[in-house]
Amino acid sequence: MTNKMVGKCNCCGDCKKYHASRGIFGTNVAVDNNGRAYHLQSGDSEALAKSILTDFAGVEVANSFYREFIHDFIACLPVQGFTIPGEAIREWMEDKVKEA
Ligand SMILES: [Zn+2]
Repeated sequence: MTNKMVGKCNCCGDCKKYHASRGIFGTNVAVDNNGRAYHLQSGDSEALAKSILTDFAGVEVANSFYREFIHDFIACLPVQGFTIPGEAIREWMEDKVKEA
């Protein structure tokens, strides 16, 4: 058993979680920020990638990496719904920075 998806994260203790679900206007994303929830604007894969990355890392990161985020995350995930832990985004971003 892993506690990866439950409670505190392993990297910083307070990573957000992104819960996506399919809606009539596109995919909705609910952010769980340590028990406080809010929603991002829903939309297509590009809007989704940009809004998640902007929320997690800021607009500059979002504009630089959203295409790769679509490829590496959004495109691989089931359309009906998924959860992306902030830890996974953080690890992915660290790899991107190394490659750059
Ligand atoms: Zn963390």
